[in-house]
Amino acid sequence: MGALKGAIVPVTPFQQNCAILWDDATRHAVVVDPGGDVDRIAAAIDQAGVTVERIWLTHGHLDHAGGATELRERLNGIPIEGPDQRDEFLLGALEDQGRSYGFAMRNVTPDKWLTEGDTVTLGEHSFDVLHCPGHTPGHIVFINQAARFALLGDVLFQGSIGRTDFPYGDHAALIRAITDKLLPLGDDMQFLCGHGPGSSIGAERRGNPFLR
Ligand SMILES: [Zn+2]
Repeated sequence: MGALKGAIVPVTPFQQNCAILWDDATRHAVVVDPGGDVDRIAAAIDQAGVTVERIWLTHGHLDHAGGATELRERLNGIPIEGPDQRDEFLLGALEDQGRSYGFAMRNVTPDKWLTEGDTVTLGEHSFDVLHCPGHTPGHIVFINQAARFALLGDVLFQGSIGRTDFPYGDHAALIRAITDKLLPLGDDMQFLCGHGPGSSIGAERRGNPFLR
Protein backbone atom coordinates (compact mmCIF):
# COMPACT_ATOMS: atom_id res chain seq x y z
CA MET A 1 0.00 0.00 0.00
CA GLY A 2 1.39 3.40 -0.99
CA ALA A 3 1.05 6.65 0.89
CA LEU A 4 -2.14 8.66 0.62
CA LYS A 5 -1.52 11.85 -1.37
CA GLY A 6 -3.82 14.70 -2.28
CA ALA A 7 -4.37 17.90 -4.20
CA ILE A 8 -6.95 20.63 -3.73
CA VAL A 9 -8.72 22.31 -6.63
CA PRO A 10 -10.73 25.40 -5.60
CA VAL A 11 -13.96 25.30 -7.60
CA THR A 12 -16.96 27.58 -8.21
CA PRO A 13 -17.21 31.25 -7.18
CA PHE A 14 -17.63 29.86 -3.62
CA GLN A 15 -13.98 28.64 -3.71
CA GLN A 16 -14.97 25.18 -2.59
CA ASN A 17 -12.07 22.79 -1.91
CA CYS A 18 -12.55 19.92 -4.35
CA ALA A 19 -10.07 17.23 -3.25
CA ILE A 20 -8.27 14.66 -5.38
CA LEU A 21 -6.85 11.83 -3.22
CA TRP A 22 -4.66 9.04 -4.50
CA ASP A 23 -2.43 6.15 -3.50
CA ASP A 24 1.08 7.03 -4.65
CA ALA A 25 1.95 3.40 -5.44
CA THR A 26 -1.07 2.47 -7.59
CA ARG A 27 -1.95 6.07 -8.59
CA HIS A 28 -5.62 5.16 -8.23
CA ALA A 29 -7.67 8.14 -7.06
CA VAL A 30 -10.99 9.51 -5.84
CA VAL A 31 -12.41 13.00 -6.36
CA VAL A 32 -14.31 14.42 -3.41
CA ASP A 33 -16.93 17.17 -3.93
CA PRO A 34 -16.48 18.22 -7.58
CA GLY A 35 -18.75 21.26 -7.33
CA GLY A 36 -18.00 22.70 -10.77
CA ASP A 37 -15.15 23.94 -12.97
CA VAL A 38 -14.83 20.41 -14.30
CA ASP A 39 -12.17 21.48 -16.83
CA ARG A 40 -9.94 22.57 -13.95
CA ILE A 41 -10.55 19.33 -12.06
CA ALA A 42 -9.76 17.30 -15.20
CA ALA A 43 -6.53 19.27 -15.69
CA ALA A 44 -5.50 18.60 -12.07
CA ILE A 45 -6.22 14.88 -12.52
CA ASP A 46 -3.99 14.85 -15.63
CA GLN A 47 -1.27 16.79 -13.86
CA ALA A 48 -1.26 14.34 -10.94
CA GLY A 49 -1.10 11.46 -13.43
CA VAL A 50 -3.75 9.45 -11.59
CA THR A 51 -6.69 7.25 -12.56
CA VAL A 52 -9.91 8.30 -10.84
CA GLU A 53 -12.08 5.38 -9.82
CA ARG A 54 -14.83 7.05 -7.82
CA ILE A 55 -16.48 10.34 -6.90
CA TRP A 56 -17.44 10.87 -3.25
CA LEU A 57 -19.90 13.56 -2.13
CA THR A 58 -20.18 14.95 1.40
CA HIS A 59 -23.51 16.72 0.82
CA GLY A 60 -25.90 18.01 -1.80
CA HIS A 61 -24.99 21.71 -2.07
CA LEU A 62 -24.23 23.02 -5.55
CA ASP A 63 -20.66 24.10 -4.80
CA HIS A 64 -19.88 20.51 -3.70
CA ALA A 65 -21.99 18.40 -6.07
CA GLY A 66 -22.72 20.61 -9.11
CA GLY A 67 -19.98 19.13 -11.33
CA ALA A 68 -20.38 15.49 -10.28
CA THR A 69 -22.60 14.33 -13.15
CA GLU A 70 -20.40 15.98 -15.79
CA LEU A 71 -17.22 14.58 -14.22
CA ARG A 72 -18.75 11.08 -14.06
CA GLU A 73 -19.50 11.26 -17.79
CA ARG A 74 -16.02 12.45 -18.67
CA LEU A 75 -14.51 9.59 -16.63
CA ASN A 76 -16.46 6.85 -18.39
CA GLY A 77 -19.28 6.55 -15.89
CA ILE A 78 -17.31 5.93 -12.68
CA PRO A 79 -19.61 5.64 -9.64
CA ILE A 80 -20.74 8.53 -7.47
CA GLU A 81 -20.92 7.50 -3.79
CA GLY A 82 -22.68 9.56 -1.11
CA PRO A 83 -24.04 11.61 0.43
CA ASP A 84 -26.73 10.25 2.79
CA GLN A 85 -30.10 9.92 1.04
CA ARG A 86 -31.51 12.70 3.23
CA ASP A 87 -29.83 15.11 0.74
CA GLU A 88 -31.68 13.67 -2.27
CA PHE A 89 -33.94 16.77 -2.39
CA LEU A 90 -30.86 18.98 -2.87
CA LEU A 91 -29.22 16.82 -5.55
CA GLY A 92 -32.50 16.81 -7.48
CA ALA A 93 -32.70 20.62 -7.41
CA LEU A 94 -29.18 21.45 -8.63
CA GLU A 95 -30.28 22.45 -12.13
CA ASP A 96 -32.83 24.91 -10.78
CA GLN A 97 -30.42 26.17 -8.11
CA GLY A 98 -27.65 26.62 -10.65
CA ARG A 99 -29.95 28.59 -12.91
CA SER A 100 -30.74 31.03 -10.12
CA TYR A 101 -26.99 31.62 -9.63
CA GLY A 102 -26.33 31.69 -13.38
CA PHE A 103 -24.27 28.44 -13.42
CA ALA A 104 -24.94 25.55 -15.76
CA MET A 105 -25.08 22.43 -13.63
CA ARG A 106 -26.88 19.12 -13.62
CA ASN A 107 -28.84 17.15 -11.10
CA VAL A 108 -27.04 14.20 -9.49
CA THR A 109 -28.26 10.66 -8.96
CA PRO A 110 -25.62 8.85 -6.89
CA ASP A 111 -24.84 5.23 -7.67
CA LYS A 112 -24.78 4.54 -3.94
CA TRP A 113 -26.10 6.44 -0.92
CA LEU A 114 -23.83 6.35 2.12
CA THR A 115 -24.62 6.70 5.80
CA GLU A 116 -23.31 6.22 9.33
CA GLY A 117 -21.31 3.04 9.66
CA ASP A 118 -20.52 2.58 5.97
CA THR A 119 -16.92 2.27 4.77
CA VAL A 120 -15.57 3.45 1.43
CA THR A 121 -12.22 2.47 0.00
CA LEU A 122 -9.50 3.86 -2.22
CA GLY A 123 -7.45 0.75 -2.96
CA GLU A 124 -6.32 -0.46 0.47
CA HIS A 125 -7.09 2.87 2.16
CA SER A 126 -10.32 2.72 4.06
CA PHE A 127 -12.52 5.64 5.15
CA ASP A 128 -15.29 5.40 7.73
CA VAL A 129 -18.48 7.32 6.95
CA LEU A 130 -20.15 9.34 9.71
CA HIS A 131 -23.50 11.08 9.31
CA CYS A 132 -23.13 14.69 10.55
CA PRO A 133 -26.42 16.52 9.86
CA GLY A 134 -27.19 20.16 10.62
CA HIS A 135 -25.66 22.05 7.66
CA THR A 136 -27.74 19.74 5.46
CA PRO A 137 -29.84 16.75 6.60
CA GLY A 138 -27.75 14.21 4.70
CA HIS A 139 -24.22 15.54 5.26
CA ILE A 140 -21.57 12.84 5.71
CA VAL A 141 -17.84 12.99 6.48
CA PHE A 142 -15.01 10.59 5.57
CA ILE A 143 -12.51 9.45 8.23
CA ASN A 144 -9.25 7.62 7.51
CA GLN A 145 -8.17 6.31 10.91
CA ALA A 146 -4.85 4.84 9.71
CA ALA A 147 -3.66 8.12 8.16
CA ARG A 148 -5.36 10.22 10.90
CA PHE A 149 -6.98 12.26 8.13
CA ALA A 150 -10.58 13.35 7.59
CA LEU A 151 -12.66 15.13 4.95
CA LEU A 152 -15.29 17.17 6.77
CA GLY A 153 -17.10 19.09 4.00
CA ASP A 154 -19.06 21.97 5.50
CA VAL A 155 -19.41 20.61 9.06
CA LEU A 156 -16.33 22.07 10.77
CA PHE A 157 -13.89 24.69 9.50
CA GLN A 158 -10.75 26.31 10.89
CA GLY A 159 -12.28 28.67 13.46
CA SER A 160 -15.85 28.23 12.26
CA ILE A 161 -18.66 25.76 11.58
CA GLY A 162 -21.06 25.16 8.70
CA ARG A 163 -23.91 27.63 8.26
CA THR A 164 -27.34 26.49 9.35
CA ASP A 165 -29.48 29.43 8.19
CA PHE A 166 -31.24 27.35 5.52
CA PRO A 167 -34.88 26.26 5.90
CA TYR A 168 -33.57 22.72 6.49
CA GLY A 169 -30.60 23.81 8.67
CA ASP A 170 -30.36 22.64 12.29
CA HIS A 171 -27.78 24.37 14.47
CA ALA A 172 -28.32 22.10 17.48
CA ALA A 173 -27.89 18.99 15.35
CA LEU A 174 -24.68 20.38 13.86
CA ILE A 175 -23.16 21.12 17.27
CA ARG A 176 -24.24 17.67 18.48
CA ALA A 177 -22.60 15.98 15.48
CA ILE A 178 -19.34 17.88 16.06
CA THR A 179 -19.36 17.25 19.81
CA ASP A 180 -20.47 13.60 19.74
CA LYS A 181 -18.78 12.34 16.57
CA LEU A 182 -15.89 14.61 15.51
CA LEU A 183 -14.23 15.73 18.76
CA PRO A 184 -13.88 12.09 19.95
CA LEU A 185 -11.81 11.32 16.82
CA GLY A 186 -8.83 12.69 18.75
CA ASP A 187 -6.76 15.86 18.77
CA ASP A 188 -4.23 14.53 16.25
CA MET A 189 -6.87 13.96 13.53
CA GLN A 190 -6.05 16.35 10.66
CA PHE A 191 -8.82 17.47 8.34
CA LEU A 192 -9.62 19.17 5.08
CA CYS A 193 -12.86 21.10 4.85
CA GLY A 194 -15.01 22.57 2.11
CA HIS A 195 -13.78 26.15 2.41
CA GLY A 196 -10.54 27.72 3.60
CA PRO A 197 -7.52 26.02 5.15
CA GLY A 198 -7.65 22.66 6.90
CA SER A 199 -6.99 22.16 10.60
CA SER A 200 -6.93 19.48 13.30
CA ILE A 201 -9.58 18.33 15.75
CA GLY A 202 -7.32 19.42 18.64
CA ALA A 203 -6.87 22.95 17.30
CA GLU A 204 -10.64 23.34 16.88
CA ARG A 205 -11.45 21.73 20.26
CA ARG A 206 -9.18 24.28 21.91
CA GLY A 207 -9.77 27.38 19.81
CA ASN A 208 -13.00 27.24 17.80
CA PRO A 209 -15.33 29.94 19.20
CA PHE A 210 -18.44 28.06 18.04
CA LEU A 211 -17.62 25.09 20.28
CA ARG A 212 -17.71 26.84 23.65
ZN1 LIG B 1 -22.63 23.29 1.95
